[in-house]
Amino acid sequence: MEIPYSQAFDDIYYSSDGGIAETQFVFIESNQILERWSLSKDPIFTICETGFGTGLNFLYTWKLWEEFQNKHNTFSDEESDSTSQKRESKINSLRWLHFISTEAFPLSGSDIYKYLHGIPEISEQLKIFLAKYNLYSPAFYRFIFPESRITLTLLYGDINNTLPELVASVDAWYLDGFAPSKNPEMWSDTVFQEMARLSHLGTSFATYTSSSVVRKGLKSAGFHVQKKNGFGKKREMCFGYYHTKEESTTLDSEFNSQHLWKNEFSIAGAGVSGASLAFAFKQRSIPVTVYDHIGIAEEASGNPVGIFYPHLSKFPTPASQFSLASFYYADQLLSSLDSSQKEKIISQEGLLFKINSEEKANRYKKSLESHSLPEKIAKLTKHESLGECIFFAKARSLDPKSYVNYLLTNVMFINKILPDQSVDKSLELNSNKYLKKPNNLVYCNSYHLKNKESTQELPIKKVRGQLYYSDDNDPIFPFLNSFAYPISSDSYMAKDTKNRFILGSTFDEFKTERAWSEQDEETILQRAMELIEHPSPPNFMEIIEERKSRFIEYNKIKNQDSIESNLYRISHRSQSKDRNPIIGNHNGTWVMTALGSRGLVTSLLGGEILASLILKEPVPVPKSILQSLSPVRFSKKKSIALIQE
Ligand SMILES: Cc1cc2nc3c(=O)[nH]c(=O)nc-3n(C[C@H](O)[C@H](O)[C@H](O)COP(=O)(O)OP(=O)(O)OC[C@H]3O[C@@H](n4cnc5c(N)ncnc54)[C@H](O)[C@@H]3O)c2cc1C
Repeated sequence: MEIPYSQAFDDIYYSSDGGIAETQFVFIESNQILERWSLSKDPIFTICETGFGTGLNFLYTWKLWEEFQNKHNTFSDEESDSTSQKRESKINSLRWLHFISTEAFPLSGSDIYKYLHGIPEISEQLKIFLAKYNLYSPAFYRFIFPESRITLTLLYGDINNTLPELVASVDAWYLDGFAPSKNPEMWSDTVFQEMARLSHLGTSFATYTSSSVVRKGLKSAGFHVQKKNGFGKKREMCFGYYHTKEESTTLDSEFNSQHLWKNEFSIAGAGVSGASLAFAFKQRSIPVTVYDHIGIAEEASGNPVGIFYPHLSKFPTPASQFSLASFYYADQLLSSLDSSQKEKIISQEGLLFKINSEEKANRYKKSLESHSLPEKIAKLTKHESLGECIFFAKARSLDPKSYVNYLLTNVMFINKILPDQSVDKSLELNSNKYLKKPNNLVYCNSYHLKNKESTQELPIKKVRGQLYYSDDNDPIFPFLNSFAYPISSDSYMAKDTKNRFILGSTFDEFKTERAWSEQDEETILQRAMELIEHPSPPNFMEIIEERKSRFIEYNKIKNQDSIESNLYRISHRSQSKDRNPIIGNHNGTWVMTALGSRGLVTSLLGGEILASLILKEPVPVPKSILQSLSPVRFSKKKSIALIQE
């Protein structure tokens, strides 16, 4: 079989004496992986590798992890409570394997397949992995394989930049970069110091090399280093453990950390935030119940359509990087939908972002370059009537309600409210929809968080948005229908799953009432005509008058007030002072809120981040992004708190 070789580093990816045998000898045995899994008292075990290469070490470790679970029958979900309690003292408490790896020059999926498909031991894992694997531009990527209870977090970028951004507590290191003589950056002092920061007492390491640079670097960072015979033609290799610091580096959680994975969690809010967090717990087989007194996706997440594409700035910022990473993460899920799910959730694929000013042209052209976006993500194009645009091939128009329902499949939903000060009293007296605070409660209830004492100081605003629905009775419908893609710029138009065009949206933080506004309707129409460059814009007032008579009729039939009709919708976003979402722990309360105008893009990764923080797992985004989302950024003691994080 062909041994993969890197021209850039003039080195092979794994030993010509046998890739699997090398992984077994160097990394598995020298780190005593199997023995430590058997003895583990923690629910998660974290391995961090330097140099993902072909992914062979990951795939082989995954295979061993599956064998380990089968052999130890670690956690059979079918067990009755009493049986499981009896067995609890005997069984291993390990629940999940986290594998982190770094790679500056990732191979394509087809190259990985070419190099590894002939290795029978890992063929099953390779197939499952390649179905998800796609890297587009430097970022942290998270791939979860729930059936195998394993997560891969792949840090795409120079290790000297990515490792300092990692938030995790590592149990074992696989040091597998190209040889120190050929790739010295991989074995730098920064890398050794970061390894020490991410290690705890007893964290092990192993590497195929015994180069003196490596041994010295590891020793000076606080590792105990030993040599032994190497694998195959290698004379010696080294291995050892970290022996310097006492305390663990994981973040604090208010929940009972010893039993975190045995907890049940409750979530207030069944919008896309609550559903995304519930999805993250569900993937880990952790029981979760979602509460919402008005139903599933009835507020901001109940709009008929939402556009899904990344928000970019001229140069990378934590906000633009979070948006991109979120886009990539949710794209994994949306790409995996079967045709019937897809039909319900996705109404359009691809999006044209119109560049309508010099300033935008300058910003977006630079932005594609500075974020290293490949054309399959974003490409400059000239549209025949719109002029210069960016085409986002993987953007989509989503049906938010169907998406939320999909995320909540098999999740317990209870149509009740959870305590927050302002509503408590009336609900307690007037309805049976009030519920006492359940354990392990996480708040994903948008601007309503302002009603809760412990979170009311968070700088969250309620921002009103009005949408215009254009159905085939609308005089502008035929013109809108001539566009194959949704269009976005200062405003947007997209088609929903009912074949209507939705024009949006207004953005008003001062006037927040629910009533329909004629003036807003005019503004939306005006902006939409500019957006699509209608050659002879119709008379807006005539259109609005005609629509008014239609929805007055509709409301009479439906016997509802004018909050909503089949022609418009009003809902409210929550937005923070700096416009970034708020995800983390505030005064002892776990929250995810302030998703602003981009909640469909950022919520899935937001939920994964929050679940990882709560469960003390490796965090799926760089530290700089985590800090830009943390509620601590608004705290008066911000600088101290951020340093502690
Ligand atoms: C007009 C408009 C257009 C938008 N367009 C887009 C778009 O094109 N693309 C995009 O990505 N994003 C868009 N957004 C943003 C996106 O819709 C939001 O970011 C997202 O829906 C917010 O989800 P959420 O779950 O945080 O809040 P919500 O969907 O508002 O859900 C919060 C839920 O919490 C519940 N709740 C409150 N208090 C309690 C309690 N005490 N107990 C239990 N439940 C409680 C509420 O009933 C509510 O259902 C738009 C938003 C608006 C308003």
